Amino acid sequence: MHQYNTQELRQQDGQHHLHPFTDTRELGSNSRIITGAEGIYIHDSEGNRILDAMAGLWCVNLGYGRQELVEAATAQMTELPYYNNFFKTAHPPAIKLAKKLTELAPEHINHVFFTGSGSESNDTVVRMVRRYWQLKGQPEKTVIIGRRNGYHGSTVAGASLGGMAPMHEQGGPMLPDVEHIAQPYWFGEGREMSPEEFGLLAARSLEQKIKELGVNRVAAFIAEPVQGAGGVIIPPESYWPEIQRICDHYGILLIADEVICGFGRLGQWFGSQHFNIKPDLMPVAKGLSSGYLPIGGVLVGDRVADTLIEQGGEFYHGFTYSGHPACAAVALRNLELMEEENVLEHVREEAAPYFAERWASLADHPLVGETRSLGLLGALELVADKTTLARFEPGIGGRCRDNCFNTGIVMRSVGETMVVSPPLVITRAEIDELVRLARESLDATARQLGIMD
Ligand SMILES: *Cc1c(COP(=O)(O)O)cnc(C)c1O
Repeated sequence: MHQYNTQELRQQDGQHHLHPFTDTRELGSNSRIITGAEGIYIHDSEGNRILDAMAGLWCVNLGYGRQELVEAATAQMTELPYYNNFFKTAHPPAIKLAKKLTELAPEHINHVFFTGSGSESNDTVVRMVRRYWQLKGQPEKTVIIGRRNGYHGSTVAGASLGGMAPMHEQGGPMLPDVEHIAQPYWFGEGREMSPEEFGLLAARSLEQKIKELGVNRVAAFIAEPVQGAGGVIIPPESYWPEIQRICDHYGILLIADEVICGFGRLGQWFGSQHFNIKPDLMPVAKGLSSGYLPIGGVLVGDRVADTLIEQGGEFYHGFTYSGHPACAAVALRNLELMEEENVLEHVREEAAPYFAERWASLADHPLVGETRSLGLLGALELVADKTTLARFEPGIGGRCRDNCFNTGIVMRSVGETMVVSPPLVITRAEIDELVRLARESLDATARQLGIMD
């Protein structure tokens, strides 16, 4: 075991490191230094063992410490650490991964464009969608419709497609010709109706927006099958079929951002398969390599791929690390391990049903207004009053998250919503521990508020 000088590391961190999505002044020199991990647990520099109920950032699907992935990286880096896929070259790991991904994808998807991350995948989506309509002789179709509170990454294109108001407010303007419609967030915005009615209403805001803009201007609709960073927002069952109907009716491209839902999170290879939709494009990243190395891609359906290939000539787009050999080798091994270990079956038949039952048991807690889950995604809505479902003042989620860390579990807060997305390999006993630690963290928060003693 390494020994760490936590004080010194924290001080240097505070002095030199600008963190992503962090208030640096508030953080000061108080960062928690993560030094190791195994299975579903991380360790910090002070020797604490913490259950990582977020799988890092929704990505460490096979858990930590998988030697097979380390070996795949080592072998590939020894053989060929880098080469690109530009200008009529390729290498075996990128080729094999492309073949594997298109075998796992729905039948109408037979091509993949590699990137280094989810954000780059969504930048690629914007360029590809606009190029597609140009080739179709309808270059005025440039508008992409996303959703308020959707998340599609943090580059200019990713932040623009996403509907996170605080991101849009910082240093705009965002990309032109991106519009946003309502999100299917029943607990937050639709409780006066049944979930089914609300789901239809939310979906029909797409139709309304298309009519308002004129279908001649609309290129595509983008959404996550289940919104992740927005607070694990699980759409009512009526939502996706109606979205699919509207996209089909108006002939616009459907983009399912599978960066979180892809690779088993909902018990299928892709979230689109769970909801039975047929996207033209599927950006992926995160779980593709279980987060061991950075890699993303866009799975491209035949409608778009055939047009780009047959009519497009050279597509002036690509990244130095598109299909990076070591990253591709690790991703391929990750997918093989998922098959060898029947991870999808484990999620579908064992982990998700048990998690759903245990997670729902938190509903009796005085701070909890709703629990919901799908696959291995879960959310809790924090409320000040369980009958009226009135909310606390902002800040309660962040307090609860800090308490989680001290209790020994990582949960994430999104406003007043607590979310989890544990590694897919989580066992029943570990789910019991996750729920027990979540309850302890809620208790600690309730005690701070003087609601419990
Ligand atoms: C995380 C995320 C992204 C961005 O991926 P990065 O690898 O962080 O760029 C895009 N879409 C969704 C749905 C995500 O959850």
